[in-house]
Amino acid sequence: MKNIMSRYEFLEKYPDEQAAAEFFEQRRWGDIPQCPHCLSRNTARIKNAKPMPHRCRECRKHFSVRTGTIMERSKIPLHKWLMAIWMLHTARKGVSSIQMAKDLGISQQAAWFLQHRIRESMIEEGHPISGTFEIDETYIGGKEKNKHRRKKKKLGSGPVGKQAVLGFRNRRNSTVRAYPIPNVRRQTLHAEIARNVQDGSTIYTDEMSSYDKITGVNRVSINHSAGEYVRDDAHTNGIESFWALLKRGYHGTNHWWSVKHIHRYVAEYTHRQNAGPGNTPDVLALTFDRMIGIRLTYRELVGQP
Ligand SMILES: [Zn+2]
Repeated sequence: MKNIMSRYEFLEKYPDEQAAAEFFEQRRWGDIPQCPHCLSRNTARIKNAKPMPHRCRECRKHFSVRTGTIMERSKIPLHKWLMAIWMLHTARKGVSSIQMAKDLGISQQAAWFLQHRIRESMIEEGHPISGTFEIDETYIGGKEKNKHRRKKKKLGSGPVGKQAVLGFRNRRNSTVRAYPIPNVRRQTLHAEIARNVQDGSTIYTDEMSSYDKITGVNRVSINHSAGEYVRDDAHTNGIESFWALLKRGYHGTNHWWSVKHIHRYVAEYTHRQNAGPGNTPDVLALTFDRMIGIRLTYRELVGQP
């Protein structure tokens, strides 16, 4: 199955604003638009009524496919939104806001805000699942140094200027959950594992003592410092390759992530990992699904948390 849509194919399939609007509308509503305010299907299409091409006959409000989505207050054309989603699924290491600005013909600030709104929709809140997991923690930010040497001295919140990120890779389907955590103390890690992993599961971790004395799961510890990286299934190579990809993105594409925004960048990488390779219309549609019912204003984005 071909899962890559080239830029040429994308533009052939979605040549203009109308094609993009039809893509979003079809995905959200099917053939009959639904009022986002009162959920009535008794609606009318108004000709040439930008930016609100639909009117609800029940509640009389006007709406568009943006209403109630993360695109609601945006003045960026839908065609550019769709292309931005396509771009984020096309580059495995992400797309810089500078590159996106050039490709979409918008300012870098507009591209940065647009990207963060798409990333916001990619944040996933998971419930505990059962299975076999590789669990690992890493640090994002600043200069990369030898990871395992650093682990020995880190306690609590870790190196200055770096953000701890915890990751879970499900061995069954290679999906990844990852997000920033305040520190790597035992209490924190045990709570996060309980939030993501069902009792009875098997987890592979490194030898860090914060994982010690975990209950409910079968923990297999890998002793990196003894040079023991792979012992049959006893490894964390999968989650470590995810970290490698994330860090190539951090260093090569996005250059610098403020601690305040790291959770959104990480969400972009996990979302892309979990959507699987490719950028077909189905993949784009799944991402649009997540943009419904979400808001992120510029003020929230740049303001202090
Ligand atoms: Zn209505």
